[in-house]
Amino acid sequence: MLQAVNVGHKALADYATIATRGLMDEIRRLAEPLAGKRVAHVSATAFGGGVAEINYTLVPLMQSAGLETDWLIIKGADEFFNVTKTIHNALQGNPQGLDAEQQEIYRKYNELNAKDFVDEYDFVIIHDAQPAAMIEQFPTSRAHWIWRCHIDLSTPNDQVLDFLLPSLQRYGATIFHRRDYVPANAEVAASAFIWPPAIDPLAPKNMALSAEDAAYIVDQFGIDVTRPLLTQVSRFDPWKDPLGVIDAYRLVKEEHPGVQLALVGSMAHDDPEGWDFYNQTVSYASGDPDIYILSNLNNVGSVEVNAFQVHSAAVIQKSIREGFGLTVSEALWKARPTVAGRAGGIVDQITHGETGWLVASSSECAEACMLALGDPELARRLALAGKEHVRRRFLTPRLLRDWLALFNRMLGLETEGVELATAAAA
Ligand code: UDP
Repeated sequence: MLQAVNVGHKALADYATIATRGLMDEIRRLAEPLAGKRVAHVSATAFGGGVAEINYTLVPLMQSAGLETDWLIIKGADEFFNVTKTIHNALQGNPQGLDAEQQEIYRKYNELNAKDFVDEYDFVIIHDAQPAAMIEQFPTSRAHWIWRCHIDLSTPNDQVLDFLLPSLQRYGATIFHRRDYVPANAEVAASAFIWPPAIDPLAPKNMALSAEDAAYIVDQFGIDVTRPLLTQVSRFDPWKDPLGVIDAYRLVKEEHPGVQLALVGSMAHDDPEGWDFYNQTVSYASGDPDIYILSNLNNVGSVEVNAFQVHSAAVIQKSIREGFGLTVSEALWKARPTVAGRAGGIVDQITHGETGWLVASSSECAEACMLALGDPELARRLALAGKEHVRRRFLTPRLLRDWLALFNRMLGLETEGVELATAAAA
């Protein structure tokens, strides 16, 4: 048996406070014919990164909507996660491909995990590339298999994408955050749906926290709460460009000597590269006492991330590639001035100069941070517009609605007037 994640409990009814009556009604109508259906989410880790973040809310809410939903974690040793990190990087455009031995390791672990998976579900949702080939072992499955892609596939390394395509073509549906992530492959494109992920406004990470409480928490990490703070929250990953954030901070510091920087990044267990890059980041900061590099190892959990975001004069997400970037919606939801890389799904969250700032270099990042520090009124106006944008598009009830509509559609049922965007409709 694959390891099941205990997600605790969430009640759909609680979300009536943040979703419109129309949306809640849609969810109830779509959930009705799905009562008792069994759903399995399969992913590589229950800790660190956006997939885990989403599933901790989505899985209990599917349960609350009446579907019997499990979340299962695949097994793997470092040799497997090294290969899957290479796959992840290649799918986001890194030229390094997979050799025959790496391909074999990937297949072997997918087969092993497939042996531990009990194929007794109505819907099997496979998250990202790590378990994507498990489907090969279930040619006669009665379940509907769905591949949910969370990464930026706009400029993939074709060698690695071609290696995965035979598996991807087997899925009854594939889901991408954006249309330009859909692979140029007729079979995958024919089954592709487009919708972005969402943040949970009621989770400890995003629930309302007063400025005083946020300052109280941040203070405990040694931050001087009387001086401005810039924060980036993200895994230690080259695509998130923490070194570029340090460069930007140094430029800001020339004008605002009091500024401090927090780089908050958890260590996902399927990310063996993380430690190397963490060490690189620490040495790049070269002992600057105003740079705070923190992780779950310093006890930075969801509430602490919430506090850092709430307390920051500006939140940065200087990604070079970004599937979606939940951290951007998290910052905007807290009405924080947000400066983020012009990459992937970030551009769906930030319209430059309207809901935040989009940047393509460290110097642009520094300029935007200085605007945010120097003109708090402008920064506040953009941040409030950003919060409104997130309220309309990137909160959990909308995500749940989209999933339920897809399940209905795959069963050949009415989707109650809910239209799902398909790749074909581009
Ligand atoms: N996160 C966290 N602690 C950290 C680093 C990240 O809780 O130290 C969370 C972050 O708040 C967000 C998620 O992990 O909810 C990262 O999702 P995102 O889509 O931004 O990036 P991904 O890691 O999936 O590439």
